[in-house]
Amino acid sequence: MADIKERLISIFPVCHVYEVVVSDNINCTYVAKFGGTSLSDAVHFKRVKQIVTEYEGRCFVVPSAPGKRFASDTKVTDLLYTLYSQKEDFDAAKETASIIENRFLEIANGLKITKEQFDISGYFEKLLQELPNSNEDYIASRGEYLCGRLLSIYLGYEFIDPADLILFDEYKELIMKKTLRAIARHTKSIDRAVIPGFYGKNIVTGETTTFSRGGSDITGALVARGVNAVVYDNWTDVSGFFTADPRIVKEAARVPALNFSELRELSCMGASVLHSSTVLPLMDSNIPIRVRNTFDLRSKGTLIAPNDYKSASSKPKVAGIAGKKGFTSVIISKLSLGESRSFVRLALHAFEACSIPVEHIPLSMDNLSVVTFTAALKNKKKMLHDELQRVLGDISVDFCDGLSLVAAVSSSLSTNAVFARVMFDALAKADISIRLTDQGSGANSLVIGVDEHRFDDAIRAIYEAFIEHDFI
Ligand code: ADP
Ligand code: ASP
Ligand code: MG
Repeated sequence: MADIKERLISIFPVCHVYEVVVSDNINCTYVAKFGGTSLSDAVHFKRVKQIVTEYEGRCFVVPSAPGKRFASDTKVTDLLYTLYSQKEDFDAAKETASIIENRFLEIANGLKITKEQFDISGYFEKLLQELPNSNEDYIASRGEYLCGRLLSIYLGYEFIDPADLILFDEYKELIMKKTLRAIARHTKSIDRAVIPGFYGKNIVTGETTTFSRGGSDITGALVARGVNAVVYDNWTDVSGFFTADPRIVKEAARVPALNFSELRELSCMGASVLHSSTVLPLMDSNIPIRVRNTFDLRSKGTLIAPNDYKSASSKPKVAGIAGKKGFTSVIISKLSLGESRSFVRLALHAFEACSIPVEHIPLSMDNLSVVTFTAALKNKKKMLHDELQRVLGDISVDFCDGLSLVAAVSSSLSTNAVFARVMFDALAKADISIRLTDQGSGANSLVIGVDEHRFDDAIRAIYEAFIEHDFI
């Protein structure tokens, strides 16, 4: 056992901090998920091979579809959604299909994968024929499928189609337990395999079903749990989680470690480095996630460990700042509505009836503000307005678009009264008005709504204030 411990510590040095891998029931299996940028061309495939084969353990690789090769490039998944939208226009579809086909041909040629090993052109010919009768998720999933096929040939690993493993119900909800059992069963006697991310199968209709965008991260977590991996490595194009989105705050620093709750809060609030559902399959397990940079192997990345692991190093007080644009506040007004017992329930029922999700619900004496995604209201404002009036009677309804939400995430938020003051002061100094506030009921995050056009300014102002107060 000592040998295994030493090897694991040298392979996974960050884990040493938490000593998570040093337990007596170590199973030397690991899962490596690679994002789109890490697999955007043949040169990147070679790098992935180098990373994966460095460690001899039982290894399961979860690829995304090839992403952007340069800033103005288009991700294969985006091309596939375009292809689907052209299902009625054969000429346009043919053109898009040939762009995608060429991307895969370039990768295959660069890796010396022959037509006999995998016939890419033949595959696209068939896909074009199937297009008019295909569902959108099936077409969108072909990026991961093809990337997985090529990677499995290149690595010499077995290919496992996630359609047999990742199982959804009729509402497109993941069936977690069945999925984990299927993964465990299928991988029991396999040492190395490639399992594409992002999609699975609807067990009622038998159709291919995908997660929401960025969902390969969830596949990686499911595979890690299903094979009982020692660690889930998520390889991407940044050196881990940063204290703020590095595209907005250039000097943002890498966060060495987070716990599962902090990750969930940060990713739900817009830190898009990991899909917000990534942590769900791992929540009650001992499997840590590491976010690592495919292009900088020396960086230790971010270790995301179960909540009860103690860090050997002292953690910063604030785990990070995240945020999202694209919200609308639906303001429902009526005198003394706060006194009515059923008002909130009925209002929320109207949102549910119109299939509009609810993100926040600040309430005052005469107003109820329901915050939702602007995109979810597309073509539905009138329907929602009518439904609200039908169930609530004489009310006024205003749709205030252009709202963004910014959140600071910290496990010690509820015990440190200074955070809120520092955030509000920073926004006041930058002359940014606050449109709403909400302290997450988990008490881990403080959410502030600001005008969308001040979003970047708000993140930068809060970041600078936190640095000044030594919070991050
Ligand atoms: P992949 O294709 O590997 O899945 P993503 O594009 O989904 O990668 O996620 C990585 C990106 O997340 C980074 O390039 C970065 O721009 C963005 N990002 C947003 N917030 C953060 C943050 N707090 N820390 C690090 N990266 C972030
Ligand atoms: N390729 C899919 C997307 O672009 C899934 C993923 O990258 O995780 O959303
Ligand atoms: Mg991603």
